[in-house]
Amino acid sequence: MMGSESCSAVRGQISTGGRHSRLHQTLATMAVPGMNKKLYSQTEKYLGDEMKQQLVKCTADNAEHEKNHAIEIDLFHQAIPAIKVIVDVGWSKRTHKHFYNAKRGVAVIFGHYTKKLLFLGVRNKFCSICAIHDNKNSDPPTHRCYKNWNGSSSAMETDIICEGFRMSETLYSIRYMFVIGDGDSSVMANIRSSVPYGIFVTKIECANHAYKAYRSCLEELARDHPQYKGKGGLTKRAIQRLTTGARIAI
Ligand SMILES: [Zn+2]
Repeated sequence: MMGSESCSAVRGQISTGGRHSRLHQTLATMAVPGMNKKLYSQTEKYLGDEMKQQLVKCTADNAEHEKNHAIEIDLFHQAIPAIKVIVDVGWSKRTHKHFYNAKRGVAVIFGHYTKKLLFLGVRNKFCSICAIHDNKNSDPPTHRCYKNWNGSSSAMETDIICEGFRMSETLYSIRYMFVIGDGDSSVMANIRSSVPYGIFVTKIECANHAYKAYRSCLEELARDHPQYKGKGGLTKRAIQRLTTGARIAI
């Protein structure tokens, strides 16, 4: 067990995107003795393992609540409790419809009834130790390697979400029969082809993603067709009004 001060200090850095050097500088400015690098790494590993254990426990509890609710409202698919889920994705370097070269991707599946997490997956194309030794054309030493993905950045989200769907029965004895999420058709196509019960899954469009897609289309129109620009056309203000109206209507 690590000291509580060490844990708090390292947890603070993890939460704010800092590392050992920043903690060291902060403490030095405050004239407080720093933490040595080895203790920092050990504490970071300890906290990482603790978080993983808590995550497994929390997601199992959340799934149990979702399952009980499905039984209560008598919603089954082929005698297995069926639930509605929300899926979302994130990248280390990408915004809605921009930048497709992310090195890391994360995707999550939430239960719609509890609004709590059921599955989380991370795909990582980069490991600094592997990269350094790749450049030197040498074999990397034994290390905790974070690289687990060699495919394209855009395929990360699909892979994680399909993995979550495939594991729903073995992990929690439930099926994700209704999906609320963004409009990426490749996710649904892959759920249908790679999940045993995938062909029965129904897609429900997410209002937020629908209006973002609408805004992107209007911006594209204004950018690619000069006749729509200027007064009375698709100005920034007009696009804002149209998308706000669309979101309210949905
Ligand atoms: Zn590595």
